[in-house]
Amino acid sequence: MICSCDSGAGQVECFHLEGSRHVVNRNFYEPAESGLTVQMEDRGKFLSQDEGLKQEIVRMTSLLYDRGLITAVGGNVSARNAGAKEFWITPSNLFKKDVTPGDLVKCDLQAKVVKGLMKPSIETPFHAAIFRRREDVNAVVHAHNPIATALGVAGVEIEPVTMEGALLLGEVPIVPFKNPGTSALAEAVAEHIVGHRALILKNHGVIGVGYELVEAMSAVEILEEAATIMYVSKIFGKTTTIPREEIEAIKKLYKI
Ligand SMILES: [Zn+2]
Repeated sequence: MICSCDSGAGQVECFHLEGSRHVVNRNFYEPAESGLTVQMEDRGKFLSQDEGLKQEIVRMTSLLYDRGLITAVGGNVSARNAGAKEFWITPSNLFKKDVTPGDLVKCDLQAKVVKGLMKPSIETPFHAAIFRRREDVNAVVHAHNPIATALGVAGVEIEPVTMEGALLLGEVPIVPFKNPGTSALAEAVAEHIVGHRALILKNHGVIGVGYELVEAMSAVEILEEAATIMYVSKIFGKTTTIPREEIEAIKKLYKI
């Protein structure tokens, strides 16, 4: 198919998620034979959809580790081709910075392994539960955001302190504590994710979802940014929020 997005890639074949929006990748490489500089997007058309998706999962996982939002073995990332009944997920217990596309595991929507050699993340049940419940979601990021998680531990709700947070996240429910990897956690997550872009898991971490991986990662980052701003503002004793009418006005302006 021809990609018509405005990512700067031009009219090239979109390999990441056929039928969906283009995933922007700004890396470049130089083929030795031609000496020409070619965009990664062009290289991508030689990859299968699954290979492109797996590379994006690995890239996002590495970025999350660099940002301090996941730990050595804590946190997990999954994604599927738009609307697919199977998804790829990071493996359990591997150092997240070292995960390669070959380490990823493919699971069905009942969280059963269908492809791959490694053991899938123990949180595969809630990733599967989200994909079952939300047909519009093709990517799930589970991170261990320190500040957002701390606010959840304190029972402090995220407030509209940034316009990005107010527009893109809105309300962020705090999911009551359930043990990691359990069906009880998967059920609680599936119940709370309806109508939301992000969740805080009490005494555990956060979840961000999106139509594609960049959106899911963005949800997790915007959440941590808002949480950090709230935390620092509370040190100074005053947390000023954006007036509701201003948020409604900007939503109307941009048709959000
Ligand atoms: Zn976790």
